[in-house]
Amino acid sequence: MSYDVIVIGSGPGGYVCAIKAAQLGMKVAVVEKRATYGGTCLNIGCIPSKALLHASEVFHQAAHGMADLGVEVGAPTLNLSKMMAHKDATVKSNVEGVAFLFKKNKIDGIQGTGKILGAGKVQVTNDAGEVQVLETKNIVIATGSDVAGIPGVAVEIDEKIIVSSTGGIALEKVPAKMIVVGGGVIGLELGSVWSRLGAKVTVVEYLDTILGGMDGEVSKQFQRILAKQGMEFNLGAKVTGVVKSGDGAKVTFEPVKGGEAQTLDADLVLVATGRKPYTAGLGLEESGVALDNRGRVEIDGHYRTNVAGIFAIGDVVKGPMLAHKAEDEGVALAEILAGQHGHVNYEVIPGVVYTQPEVASVGKTEEELKAAGVSYKVGKFPFTANGRARAMLASDGFVKVLADKDTDRVLGVHIIGLGAGEMIHEAAVLMEFGGSSEDLGRTCHAHPTMSEAVKEAALATFFKPLHM
Ligand code: FAD
Repeated sequence: MSYDVIVIGSGPGGYVCAIKAAQLGMKVAVVEKRATYGGTCLNIGCIPSKALLHASEVFHQAAHGMADLGVEVGAPTLNLSKMMAHKDATVKSNVEGVAFLFKKNKIDGIQGTGKILGAGKVQVTNDAGEVQVLETKNIVIATGSDVAGIPGVAVEIDEKIIVSSTGGIALEKVPAKMIVVGGGVIGLELGSVWSRLGAKVTVVEYLDTILGGMDGEVSKQFQRILAKQGMEFNLGAKVTGVVKSGDGAKVTFEPVKGGEAQTLDADLVLVATGRKPYTAGLGLEESGVALDNRGRVEIDGHYRTNVAGIFAIGDVVKGPMLAHKAEDEGVALAEILAGQHGHVNYEVIPGVVYTQPEVASVGKTEEELKAAGVSYKVGKFPFTANGRARAMLASDGFVKVLADKDTDRVLGVHIIGLGAGEMIHEAAVLMEFGGSSEDLGRTCHAHPTMSEAVKEAALATFFKPLHM
């Protein structure tokens, strides 16, 4: 059997690329070593973590939030195995959805580990050890990423006491004390899950801020909110050891700037120090596909590797490790393979932290604008001054709009607030069209909505907000 495209990996990059290529008339196969489609995102990442974030937030609301609204339910009881069953059912329906879409689009899904033998040839070895070689005009590497350890520290992740995010979404009981190594998105999301369910969570982070790379004002305020929720932070702290000890574990760290080391005990340690591109066993060396200095498959602006007919997208290439970035690259590449002009605008890729409140961001941060010497203006509006937020007892957070001082073009929008991950998209669409803060501030927004705070923040960049 010969294909137009063989995609290796069925995560958001790979499966979306396959569907789009099939929709554009190509004969497509997807090779996936996991038993189910959907990659990290659907099986052990975005989807299961969001199922747990939602369920744990409902529990937390029942325990702490509803009484102030006049809803008295008594102390809620946690049924963790039922919560996990909800998560598993969510994953199952999503991965089955991908299998359905493959069928619908006549895509051949092939279970097994793919190895590139050279341009046009992919060897697949299934779990039973059977080997077949498939021929194709184009190969797409979409093999994603894997858990990265702590730089310079040997840590034995057993997924029981010392866990990665994979173990962190499948705990059998709520740990009394939990240490999260890494104050990035995954650490804070999963830390929030277990904190809401009753764990005492301490975050140990190398940088001086959480959510490194996020707008500084946003990460500071967000840290204050999480601290109010009970999370503790050790920032500017370099972890030098994570070891099992008795029934739990010990984490040793020292100030990055120098000083005395400290050791904390915990029942559970979540190592959330990032992810690394996954290319093991893919045959890249043998087929001459080049990697960059960070182990990512090197590509040009059209997702071409240095070997003709071999392309790469998603977490395995440069750029933010986000599912929607991988998906958009999958679409763009399929269009390119079909002779069209696929394109991703890397200036407008939203990022969301799905905690409560959520944090969402698109475009440049103030720090990035300063570093680039761009003159900009800032408009801010707090949710304390938004009627809908007050009605929902959700007035934590604010909207911040950054616009070019001369042209008024919106360069970045940052939101902390309930539903920030949904609200950010009006900013993304505006920025995609090169819109100005005046465009945003003069767009009629329904009342009462949280989104009115976006309009008010935009008004604040060029004149004054109305409700403050
Ligand atoms: P992946 O999803 O990693 O898929 C790659 C697939 O390739 C895997 O199924 C793997 O088994 C397969 N594979 C690898 N090698 C081979 C081979 N040789 N042969 C056959 N198959 C192979 N991103 C967001 O945007 N939003 C979120 O809320 C979010 N939450 C996350 C939460 C967690 C806990 C984690 C870990 C990640 C989260 N991410 C989130 C990141 C997101 O999961 C990734 O950015 C996304 O999955 C990348 O997609 P991909 O297609 O590049 O690779």
